Amino acid sequence: MDRVVLGTELKNRGWLAMAQNLDYDFIVIGSGFGGSVSALRLSEKGYKVLVIEKGKRLKAEDFPKTNWNLKRWMWLPMLRFYGFFKLTFFRHITILSGVGVGGGSLVYANTLPVPKEDFFTAPGWTHLADWKKELDPFYLLAKKMLGTVRNPRLETGDIALKKLAKQIGKEDEFEEAEVAVFFGDAEQKVADPFFDGRGPERSGCTFCGGCMTGCRYDGKNTLDKNYLYLAEQNGVQIQAESEVYDIHPLDGDRGADGYRVFYKRSTAVFKKKGQVKAKGVVFSGGVLGTVPLLLELRDSSLPHLSPMVGASVRTNSESLIGITTFDKKISFSDGVAIGSILHTDEHSHLEPVRYASGSGFWRVLLAPMVSGKNIFIRLYRLLSDLLRHPLKNIRLAFVWDFAKRTQILLFMQTINSTLRFKKGVLGMRSTIQSGRAPTAFIPEAQDLARRYAKLVKGAPVTLLTETLYGIPTTAHILGGCVMGANKEEGVIDKDHRVFGYENMYICDGSAISANPGVNPSLTITALSERAMSKIVPKN
Ligand SMILES: Cc1cc2nc3c(=O)[nH]c(=O)nc-3n(C[C@H](O)[C@H](O)[C@H](O)COP(=O)(O)OP(=O)(O)OC[C@H]3O[C@@H](n4cnc5c(N)ncnc54)[C@H](O)[C@@H]3O)c2cc1C
Ligand code: SF4
Repeated sequence: MDRVVLGTELKNRGWLAMAQNLDYDFIVIGSGFGGSVSALRLSEKGYKVLVIEKGKRLKAEDFPKTNWNLKRWMWLPMLRFYGFFKLTFFRHITILSGVGVGGGSLVYANTLPVPKEDFFTAPGWTHLADWKKELDPFYLLAKKMLGTVRNPRLETGDIALKKLAKQIGKEDEFEEAEVAVFFGDAEQKVADPFFDGRGPERSGCTFCGGCMTGCRYDGKNTLDKNYLYLAEQNGVQIQAESEVYDIHPLDGDRGADGYRVFYKRSTAVFKKKGQVKAKGVVFSGGVLGTVPLLLELRDSSLPHLSPMVGASVRTNSESLIGITTFDKKISFSDGVAIGSILHTDEHSHLEPVRYASGSGFWRVLLAPMVSGKNIFIRLYRLLSDLLRHPLKNIRLAFVWDFAKRTQILLFMQTINSTLRFKKGVLGMRSTIQSGRAPTAFIPEAQDLARRYAKLVKGAPVTLLTETLYGIPTTAHILGGCVMGANKEEGVIDKDHRVFGYENMYICDGSAISANPGVNPSLTITALSERAMSKIVPKN
């Protein structure tokens, strides 16, 4: 079905007449990158749009001063913590993600690189389109909308990375990161600098390093300052603190007449429920929102969904290693969260990531970096490291202001191993679909970490889940509703339309059908822009 046929079909089915019985033309589930793009572009095409978001709407003053304020930082409804950062544990992977109006943009590190060539020609989706050609204009548009610029200031951690680049003969492969931050005057508000005055007033970045615990200074270009802001100006309604849990086609079949969407209050003990009707639905809950919802609905109200729901889940094959320095003069906390990037080879990238001074929560989960085939070897190595270097480890454990003294190194690769998410007894569970299981022990990453540690007079540390169980951690979970030529191959077609249903789309990280090898939000934005460009205007 191409663009023209879709438009004709909508008219033939009496869209406008039908819409009178419906509450909205489109419901967008989730307000992260994919959801925000969808909301704005649909509203520009004349559609009446409701965005339903599980998390809270947060203002600058709602973000915690440090991540020790777990109640404000973490999303843990069982403990009545309604922050914006979520940690989810699976058998093969630990996932970091964002919750709230603006989704992952609230918690992310603002870095927006364009993937290398092999992403566009990856086997999983290259047969569907010439992706490089198709996406180039949408990357440009996404960068403009998100306000992407080169980081103007290299700080201690970036300068050490530059030295490392020189040491390994890759000086030319080092560059300042492209980041979605406003580098204007931090002292005063100025009229919207990005959208010819249609956006909100802004003040500039203070280089406080706190981007991942929420920007308290208005420097970060979160989605509520661009896409969502403009969408609301266009009449889009955003209903926060509501979680979608069920969807029924109004015709009892493939949704030709629209859908009834059920939601419940997500921040109350007694979950008040509600429902709305719309002609179309866009799933934008991110991998951890869209995939479990569709796995559930395939067994109940949406039986025509593809058997591929949950398949081809990928990470960036990341490795997160902290380097804690013993040099009291060094501070890693100044600057934006990610200020530079080193392309260590064609498929691998290294970025220094920082938290603001005081945000040292991760220290309670860290242990010295060791590797080994199984838990016994790693435990043995861990204990022998503790015994052989007691002084070093005591100093590591008690280092003053852990965030300030610790530089996190984020290593990413385009390795193509895939997981499959399935329904489990306690929610979703992970299984290995193909290739090697994602690993916490990437030799190149560990080698680079040791070199970096020497440069800054420090020692490498990793999360205990990695050291003991070998389970890697990712902030870049992707796939689970990938594209295909048909329902047997994918959940959506190349234009993000869900196979088996009408006027149903998926625009978020779950639709990413290959491993970008770099931070994915720009790609999610560009793909969602492309998907929305295919929808015909209402009138
Ligand atoms: C600490 C951290 C740092 C990161 N740094 C970077 C970076 O520098 N660069 C980069 O490119 N990426 C980064 N990322 C990754 C980036 O945040 C994600 O890839 C991106 O946000 C995914 O976008 P999305 O559109 O898939 O959905 P998300 O942004 O994840 O948004 C989904 C939204 O949907 C909501 N939702 C889910 N289910 C439901 C439901 N049933 N009903 C209602 N609402 C629902 C969620 O609450 C959430 O707000 C980082 C992530 C983390 C955690
Ligand atoms: S460095 Fe500080 S002020 Fe700048 S964007 Fe990040 S959190 Fe905001």
